[in-house]
Amino acid sequence: MTDRLTHYVNGQRTALDSVRSAPVFNPSTGQQSAEVLLASKADVEQAIASAQQAFERWSQTTPLKRARVMFKFKALLETHADEVARLIAQEHGKVLSDAMGELTRGLEVVEFACGMPHLQKGEHSLNVGSGVDSFSLMQPLGVCAGITPFNFPAMVPLWMFPIAIAAGNTFVLKPSEKDPSSTLRIAELLSEAGLPDGVLNVVNGDKEAVDTLLTDPRVQAISFVGSTPIAEYVYSTGSAHGKRVQALGGAKNHMVIMPDADLDQAVDALMGAAYGSAGERCMAISVAVPVGESTAVKLREKLLARLDTLSVGVSITEGADHDMGPLVSKDHLDKVAGYIATGEAEGAELVRDGRELTFKSDGYFIGGTLFDHVKPGMRIYDEEIFGPVLAIARANSFDDAVQMINAHEFGNGTAIFTRDGDAARQYCEQIQVGMVGVNVPIPVPMAFHSFGGWKRSLFGALHMHGPDGVRFYTRMKTVTARWPSGLREATNQFTMPTM
Ligand code: NAD
Repeated sequence: MTDRLTHYVNGQRTALDSVRSAPVFNPSTGQQSAEVLLASKADVEQAIASAQQAFERWSQTTPLKRARVMFKFKALLETHADEVARLIAQEHGKVLSDAMGELTRGLEVVEFACGMPHLQKGEHSLNVGSGVDSFSLMQPLGVCAGITPFNFPAMVPLWMFPIAIAAGNTFVLKPSEKDPSSTLRIAELLSEAGLPDGVLNVVNGDKEAVDTLLTDPRVQAISFVGSTPIAEYVYSTGSAHGKRVQALGGAKNHMVIMPDADLDQAVDALMGAAYGSAGERCMAISVAVPVGESTAVKLREKLLARLDTLSVGVSITEGADHDMGPLVSKDHLDKVAGYIATGEAEGAELVRDGRELTFKSDGYFIGGTLFDHVKPGMRIYDEEIFGPVLAIARANSFDDAVQMINAHEFGNGTAIFTRDGDAARQYCEQIQVGMVGVNVPIPVPMAFHSFGGWKRSLFGALHMHGPDGVRFYTRMKTVTARWPSGLREATNQFTMPTM
């Protein structure tokens, strides 16, 4: 018997009228662990109706009371952190300590949302003209929707709904159908914290559910995180239906290693950034760019030595975590193995082949892989692999490195390792990438800054969480007011008022 995962609508787990379902697997064993219901158009419409109905009262609840629910939610997430992290690890496959790290980064957005009474204050000017004041209101939009990927089933939903809800919106979330359990549990905890029914609803589903959210006129805003083709589709379809959309897509993140870098530190950083979470992170480093021949030779040697000790194993190993667990699914394992074969055929040098992993299991395991002499134009350079495959793409100079990275279609994250402040400064200024690390391999902005890439890594104007998150989930109204007790004469004004 496997668990049956339903939806979470109007404050309770419910099957609605769903008839379709999909299997959920434990990637460490390859066994099916649950089946998840897939919502029909009519099911999603019920969830939207529930959010629409809840909006009227929730948007009138004072910001302070809304924030107090978030404070309780934060405390409950902390109490239940181990339980939620285990659900993530079981269905995603990442190791337990990494699952805990993901939850912590999501929890930090809840902490940010606790400050909403301050964040939503708006601006005020006294006497923009004589006796005339001006102020702005940052009002909620109504029903907002989130569509999230498999690789961060807790953190990415937490980028979205705490800010939306604290600002007075209601929400319909469509998590990945591959690992929905932690997301459903988090929604229950928010109800336990005192959130009124219908303010947060979770519908499980696939394209049919997503298309309903993108086209229903009651939904005001769409936040999406996932692969670039779907992000582009969500952005164009949602926008064409009059919604504001932020759609974050795929990535190919480069790390430049300058000749003066501390190589041991750079290699330490690269190992975690390339192979942590089996490379299934949108901020993973998948291309190392050593500048100069001697840097490349030394870097490769040190990486190979470290790869010998990379430990791969089941995601929940009591007492001692491995460095990385399995990939999320059999399909994804085949896709990553296929890229390794493609890289060889394209003429890149396969220095370490993860397909030769000695650890045997029915799970979806592959070892850390290293390619050298990878170049633009090869598919393993141009495309996102989303697995534990690191490519070394050698550059002759700093300028060559910058030029190569700027020519790539993705621009999510990047890093430079150097001891030269001038090189680092120039890199930050010239690189066409949304998030940059200086001697920091995975420069994920904290909750009170905003997260987002450039180029085909993000469609839309506003990034996730931080100040952009507050702007995305509120609309500004500007009031210009004069109290007429002092108006003694009629004023007929036909020209543009200039105060
Ligand atoms: P995905 O694009 O396959 O799925 C994302 C969401 O879209 C899921 O909820 C899925 O059910 C839905 N979806 C899938 N196909 C659809 C379709 N045809 N029509 C409508 N909806 C559809 O992505 P994934 O495999 O779950 O996640 C991995 C991808 O997400 C990678 O490309 C990764 O880089 C990206 N990602 C990006 C960021 C970022 O911040 N830029 C963060 C995390 C993940």
